[in-house]
Amino acid sequence: MYHAVTRKPPAPPDDAAEDEAPPDSPRKERVLHTRVPAVLEEELKRFAKNLRVPVSNVVRAILEDALKMADRATGSVEDRLKDVVAVVHNERENLQSKLKKLDPLDDVLAFQPLVLAMPTECTACQSSLRRGESGWLGMTTDPARRVIVCGACLPKPEPEPNNQPKEPS
Ligand SMILES: [Zn+2]
Repeated sequence: MYHAVTRKPPAPPDDAAEDEAPPDSPRKERVLHTRVPAVLEEELKRFAKNLRVPVSNVVRAILEDALKMADRATGSVEDRLKDVVAVVHNERENLQSKLKKLDPLDDVLAFQPLVLAMPTECTACQSSLRRGESGWLGMTTDPARRVIVCGACLPKPEPEPNNQPKEPS
């Protein structure tokens, strides 16, 4: 049984420093595919649905927490993840703010329509997008980051403020 990990102040750097990734490329991201037990998947999906965020964001947030204590890990990663899932279950608020920071569309400045030349996945909702379908490219400040969203995840126009109707020009 592990204690709440998300409430801890940042992990002490002194004994974790050894194995840490080089700090030079903090935003370089990779896609990992992994198998998880059905029960864990269930829990992750339920959790993500409650928070209305992509499952991948939940996994990412959890992995980040798990890795913080991985240097002291004794059990299997799977056990550890289960423990963390149990913990975050009770740490909803904390995780929510964490996930907000991980919103994949958070740093998007604009969306540009495009026609997909190869199948891909919506960055926001993970739905599959086929070749030839319309997608929208999210422009971020990080050129190495690729954000493509489906029509459903495209931001809707905010309602115009009603007080001063514009004249057509
Ligand atoms: Zn989408």
